[in-house]
Amino acid sequence: MGIFFKESTDTQGEISLNFNDEIIGFLKPFDISSPELDLRNLLINSKSILDQSALVEFKVQNLKGEWKAESISGNSVFECSLKLENYGENTLNLTRLDTFSFNLLHRNWKVTYFSSDWGDECSAKNISLDNGATFGVHSGRSSHGDNPIIYLVREDDGFCIVIAPAWSGNWHIEISKAGSIRAGISPYHLEVPIKPSEKLEAPSVIFSVGSSVLDAREALQISIRDNWIPRSAAIDKAPIEWNHWWPYEDVELNEEIFLANAKIAAEIGVNTVVLDAGWFGKSDLSSNWREHRGDWDLVNGARFPSGLEDLGMKVNKLGVQPGIWLEVEAVGAKSDLRVTSPQVLALNVGGDNSNQSYINRSEGLDKNDPSFLGYVCLGSVEGWQHALDSITRVVTEIGAKWLKLDFNVDPGKGCTRIDHGHSSGDGLFRHYQGLYKLLDTVKKKFPDLLIEACSSGGLRIDLGLAKYVHCFFLSDPDYTEHHLQVLWGASHILPPIAILHWPWSYWRGDYPPSRIAWDEVSIAEFDLIIRAAMLHRFGFSYPLPIFPKRLTERLAYHINVFRESIAPILSHAVLSPLSGPPERGGGGQRISIWVLSSHSNEAQETHLVLGFVLQEKAERLPFEMRFLDSGRHYLITNLENGECQEVLGSEIDSNLIWDISNAASSWIIEIKVRRLIISS
Ligand SMILES: [Zn+2]
Repeated sequence: MGIFFKESTDTQGEISLNFNDEIIGFLKPFDISSPELDLRNLLINSKSILDQSALVEFKVQNLKGEWKAESISGNSVFECSLKLENYGENTLNLTRLDTFSFNLLHRNWKVTYFSSDWGDECSAKNISLDNGATFGVHSGRSSHGDNPIIYLVREDDGFCIVIAPAWSGNWHIEISKAGSIRAGISPYHLEVPIKPSEKLEAPSVIFSVGSSVLDAREALQISIRDNWIPRSAAIDKAPIEWNHWWPYEDVELNEEIFLANAKIAAEIGVNTVVLDAGWFGKSDLSSNWREHRGDWDLVNGARFPSGLEDLGMKVNKLGVQPGIWLEVEAVGAKSDLRVTSPQVLALNVGGDNSNQSYINRSEGLDKNDPSFLGYVCLGSVEGWQHALDSITRVVTEIGAKWLKLDFNVDPGKGCTRIDHGHSSGDGLFRHYQGLYKLLDTVKKKFPDLLIEACSSGGLRIDLGLAKYVHCFFLSDPDYTEHHLQVLWGASHILPPIAILHWPWSYWRGDYPPSRIAWDEVSIAEFDLIIRAAMLHRFGFSYPLPIFPKRLTERLAYHINVFRESIAPILSHAVLSPLSGPPERGGGGQRISIWVLSSHSNEAQETHLVLGFVLQEKAERLPFEMRFLDSGRHYLITNLENGECQEVLGSEIDSNLIWDISNAASSWIIEIKVRRLIISS
């Protein structure tokens, strides 16, 4: 029972997906195209269908293939993958490589998807499937356009299927009017040659099924947490980060300011201080970070006269660890790299940018050269080596324990050079294969290095990259309602240990929603701002030497709560919203309630319920708890005042939570198991 596969008797080659006694639809192994292949010649060599896995081996002309749908960690979450091999004598060109193909049996489904742009990430949209629908990106970054996740909900009973292409470049999900779904790498400008004897792996697609949206997303989080993202004991402890960026950016940063912050950060319990953009390039106070990206061998001596190695040692002496920002794929228009190593540059040969469906948000392009894409092609051997050498040198020099890897470039259809070892139609595909291999190599070289993925904020959040990085930065803006909206979307695929976002930062820039008069912020307002960013990995960007002292003291209190009560459960936790999402601009639900749950049914079972009242006198809507056992005894504590009571699981409901929350505008309520009663 539950979710299982079965060989279909009435549809050729298809596999039924069953939930209890009911067929939900039919999985069709892959969907590929090539001008050289006649798919009518497809032969299935072998097929093995078990409850939780399906394997199909096939051949078509001189192409052999193996398609799999396999459960990840035994939950109702599956990875569809496809391996191909050309055993003929001629190159074949693949123009479609969908690893997920599914026919929905019923018609009463609605879809939620998320559009995503800078400062506007994870905007949930609901549509019906009456006319079919297409989702995806052409920007060359997985989350600039739409986020690579949709979920289908059956209107009668809430049954849910989540579909998430695991790919960092262009992806697509197409749903026809008749309910046939195809998903995988986008066919947009895709032509991947597979040479004689060459093997190829197509990007996977993950899908999760459950009797409700919450069930499906919790199962997905658990699978990604336990069997997908990289894990290490040191990094699982969720070190707390201070980052210099928003109060100083590059122009107001220097060694003295960085160290003055590091000193206070160490005193209030921070573990890592991350040096963001501004440290590299020409030794010149007026140098702009965008223009010199790529020159990672140059340290801006005007700002950092003692160099990275010395800075790292000074930081360590203060009792914190150094971290560093790098946009290793990027090339600034005025960088030396562009002149000295033109062979590594990704180029759009001919400069044709027609059919561009997105606003190009690439930093530092060159108006006079439309072929310049602003990044290093990791599909080229020399480009890949430049990236590895740059990371190795910088991380080693400063002794970094945290690497913030940014990517402020839209590659579009990608590099179309033909002297990089790839063809004009698979430059982006080879770039992302190169990126994954690069990150794998870096992780082996530096096993204790935390790797954070950032991409103009949250424009490359996907399950392809999730296999190679420890966490994702959700968005550049971080004002609280925006933060909670983005978190609501991102936590559909990511467990809390793979998420990093800061509480509302101290911005020197003039982005209107981020304006706030810090001197006038009350402690209650500050509590809400900080607690809202404690549902996952935690860090912040405040100018500590000039930050209001009362707020710094309160921050130290919150850091302690995070270290004592949240960090220890984070690596085993799932994050579930108990309310609908708040929305930017004062919309959505104005009281946002979440639960972090870990170790359900074990002696150390813990649930942390966090609530945020975003608008005074907002209506208190009832909500239902998750994972509690009605017959179990729990200790329930408001972490602010320490008041504790013993209650049965059946007694914990929204009324009790409201009661214990003490009418505060934000709260953390801890629920721990009192004694574990094991029924026979
Ligand atoms: Zn290239």
